Amino acid sequence: MVVSSRWTAPIPGCSVQTWVFGSSFGHLPDDPQFIDPERPDTHVFTRSEYRLWCKRLALGLRRAGLKPGERVLLFSGNTIFSPIIFMGVLMAGGVFTGANPGFVSRELTHQLKDSGASFLIAADSRMEVAVEAATEAGLSRDRIYSIDNETFDPEMCAAPLGTKHWLSLLATKSDGLNFDWVEPSDTKTTTCCLNYSSGTTGVPKGVQISHYSYVANGAGVISVAQQDPEFKEKRLRARELCFLPMYHPYGQTFFACIFPMLGSPVYIMPVFNLEKMLQHIEKYRITSITGIPAILAALARNPSSHRYDLSSIETISSGGAPLALKLCDEVSNLWPHGTLNVRQGWGMTEVTCAATMWHSLSSIRSSAVGEVAVNAKARLMRVDGSGEITEAYERGELWISGPTLMMGYWNNSEATANAFHIDPDGTRWLKTGDVAYIEKYEPGGLLHIVDRIKELIKTEAGQIAPAELEAVLLDNKGVTDVAVVGVTIDGVEVPRAYVVPSALVKVTEKEIAKWMESRAAGYKWLRGGVKFIDAIPKNPSGKILRSQLKLLAAKE
Ligand code: AMP
Repeated sequence: MVVSSRWTAPIPGCSVQTWVFGSSFGHLPDDPQFIDPERPDTHVFTRSEYRLWCKRLALGLRRAGLKPGERVLLFSGNTIFSPIIFMGVLMAGGVFTGANPGFVSRELTHQLKDSGASFLIAADSRMEVAVEAATEAGLSRDRIYSIDNETFDPEMCAAPLGTKHWLSLLATKSDGLNFDWVEPSDTKTTTCCLNYSSGTTGVPKGVQISHYSYVANGAGVISVAQQDPEFKEKRLRARELCFLPMYHPYGQTFFACIFPMLGSPVYIMPVFNLEKMLQHIEKYRITSITGIPAILAALARNPSSHRYDLSSIETISSGGAPLALKLCDEVSNLWPHGTLNVRQGWGMTEVTCAATMWHSLSSIRSSAVGEVAVNAKARLMRVDGSGEITEAYERGELWISGPTLMMGYWNNSEATANAFHIDPDGTRWLKTGDVAYIEKYEPGGLLHIVDRIKELIKTEAGQIAPAELEAVLLDNKGVTDVAVVGVTIDGVEVPRAYVVPSALVKVTEKEIAKWMESRAAGYKWLRGGVKFIDAIPKNPSGKILRSQLKLLAAKE
């Protein structure tokens, strides 16, 4: 049995840039679009400025040598310039790829090399790492641009380590700005971004999202929101706060595309900070909170939350990781009379962004993640390998089909082939590696995510690929064999390494943990500990039996 969405929506056959900045954008008032909440008077872009700056960057990138389809890597935390860089790259006909600003050189080098990026825009505070990685990846210094959260004036800006400031890339009036942005001839086969994800197995890979899929995802979100009879009024009063990173599809889709299209101003925070978030909600009368469970837990459990006026909030959504019903209730209790429910969604980089949705009027106090998103289909496959589809309420691996599926993994046909099941009629299904059940096999049936059978570990800061950490640990001469699994400590998933120590080179558990600290971003450190073990459990073909290690961890 297959469950189809009860919603369909037309998918504009244009590029992301034409979809966002097309005809209706110009009809909205030219109000502030992106605002730095710490400096709202000086650090602000109106809607027309947003479009103009994207064009300036697009033209500048083309002038600097960017060719259609070339990748531009952004290595920075959020600034009010982030949406401009995302959209400007697309307008230039380029492909956007974003990296976690906490990456160490090894991690950035991997993404630079793998994506083959020909331009790197990096936070000035991270420039040492950026230059080291670019050198390692063979990217010349004159293709590295620095960005900071301060400067608007190219005359006033300095760039560290012999790089150039990104403002120097921007075309000016004298360059003639009536440049038409690049429109791909086939949006289904033209990539707009490479968002990195390890998928169900292996190291991080570039997820190739086409313009068509990106637009399909966003158009679906908007079409469901429009079913709300109060859509227009809500849209007029909406004010959004962005603390989700733009290197993740969620940040890009909502903050650079959907909210500007709806005319909702976006206050951009560089990083999440609870106290600041609460201050901004009160001061700017923010209307929604879109977060991950760790952020909602901070909100629910910190006494500060009671000291601020949060009454402007109308919706709260969570995604990225499982959200316990108890936490939903704790968050809802911050609003008197139970007026607010938390809506949980499910998504994955390989399906562009969100793949489940809620009807805007449904009353929800549920552990479900919603129903199958617009234009999509789902089925749940028994995990015993029988190839059978589950019954209602029976757990199975979630497979998704629809217009938002990735084109594939960048330069990795083997991983692409393994990620999909293809029906005899050619329908592609993404095998998500998540275990779920559905309440009824009918359109509108609610999905619940209950487990994960893929290797992936998810922390509050993002994905951790066990295969990546295992490769780092195997470089240590004291490690003969290793397996990394996720363990849950205080409700948070963290990586733990099971290590077979070498008989020849002595190392301690502490030294192994330290080894990781200089070779991976902080969120990948072995916060679940290092445990010595005699042998790593494997199947006859050498595949690590991670479930056995998880059981061992649960016993410990
Ligand atoms: P990413 O590609 O980084 O967005 O991570 C996608 C993965 O996050 C999914 O495949 C799930 O394992 C996990 N995930 C996302 N949303 C949820 C949710 N609501 N409940 C449980 N897991 C989730």
